Amino acid sequence: MPNHRRNRPNPPGRRARDTAGIIQAMSQRVIPLVDQRAAGWTPSPAALLSPPTGRLTDTLGRPLRDLRISVTDRCNFRCNYCMPKEVFDKHHVYLPHHALLSFEEITRLARVFMAQGVRKIRLTGGEPLLRKNLEDLIAQLAQLRTVDGRPPDITLTTNGALLARKAQALKAAGLNRITVSLDGLDDATFRRMNDVDFPVAQVLEGIEAARAAGLGPIKVNMVVKRGTNDQEIQPMAQYFRGTPITLRFIEYMDVGATNGWRMDEVLPSAELIARLQTQMSLVPLAPHAVGETAERWGYANAQGQHDPRLGEIGLISSVTRAFCQDCNRARLSTEGQLYLCLFASQGWDLRSLLRGGASDEALATAIASLWQGRGDRYSELRSSQPATGNSALRRVEMSYIGG
Ligand code: SAM
Ligand code: SF4
Ligand code: SF4
Repeated sequence: MPNHRRNRPNPPGRRARDTAGIIQAMSQRVIPLVDQRAAGWTPSPAALLSPPTGRLTDTLGRPLRDLRISVTDRCNFRCNYCMPKEVFDKHHVYLPHHALLSFEEITRLARVFMAQGVRKIRLTGGEPLLRKNLEDLIAQLAQLRTVDGRPPDITLTTNGALLARKAQALKAAGLNRITVSLDGLDDATFRRMNDVDFPVAQVLEGIEAARAAGLGPIKVNMVVKRGTNDQEIQPMAQYFRGTPITLRFIEYMDVGATNGWRMDEVLPSAELIARLQTQMSLVPLAPHAVGETAERWGYANAQGQHDPRLGEIGLISSVTRAFCQDCNRARLSTEGQLYLCLFASQGWDLRSLLRGGASDEALATAIASLWQGRGDRYSELRSSQPATGNSALRRVEMSYIGG
């Protein structure tokens, strides 16, 4: 049987030792070194058991604002750019239930992250709607408060397959907004890309149900692969023009180690916008906020001005225009590993801390220390080197830490 667990940076066999090390370190009132392979990492003295301030910054001055939580490593799709069928086949070993963070554990960690400055929580996966009773988690998260006393902005990214039946319950539980992934309107193309023969119509039904439930403003994510679905760019832009739904085009990224990424399959955003402008008029818009991943373009009227009634699109140029300088996102994997970059090859084992009896203060200290030591800027570094294929380093899969 092939051992696909190799894609996970911390096999379970290492857990016991890691946990013991953490607890011992904590009893000595030093920062827990959550992953022994992180030789060379030294905790920031400023982080040593200091109370959370909500104003953490990393080595590049970036605040911690956004926490992405993966609630499952399973998915009902096999998008070839994310969980290719040949790798994620019937032999693939998923995490056992006890390895997953429980809703209480997730909520506790989220509370500590929010004390450290997080304002926005995105639930992701795998396919988050596959996690049983997800509404219960959302209801718990909705009770939390930011350092300014506000509720968190809770969003979710989904492939939309189960959305039509779950949208109402998600909204009632406290979900604010939703992002639905859809890679084209042509049924044959979409079925081929999700590789489980799932029809476009059901995703569109899910989007409609989300709109009816009040889960707006809705975003639709389209990953563009040259030669696979780039012919869908214009139809998608036409379809969502004039609706309150923002379509975002994502450059196909070299995440993980299994999707066989090649630069020649990336369609740069500059080329994409040029193609769109041969058919419709679009004008650049100012960003809503610092750290926004998407570059905004508005549909223009006959006078060449943005008409808000026509809506807007977003370009996420992760490959050709890196946005690391404003990256304020941390990622928590399904089993409680903290990743400080989407392209990281290792995480930090917060679950061992949680299950080893760490206090909220100790958790806050560990998070502060890790964030203050963060210097990740993978995409910027990639842009400065010739990009050819997935790096030899065993990077974590996107289906494991979420997008
Ligand atoms: N299953 C959910 C979904 O598809 O929306 C949530 C998880 S998925 C990993 C999150 C987002 O990552 C999706 O919008 C997906 O299209 C995007 N994604 C996955 N692999 C990608 C890749 N190689 N390049 C760019 N985006 C990718
Ligand atoms: Fe599943 Fe989302 Fe990955 Fe597609 S992109 S395989 S839907 S996790
Ligand atoms: Fe953030 Fe890493 Fe992506 Fe740069 S490469 S934007 S640091 S997640």
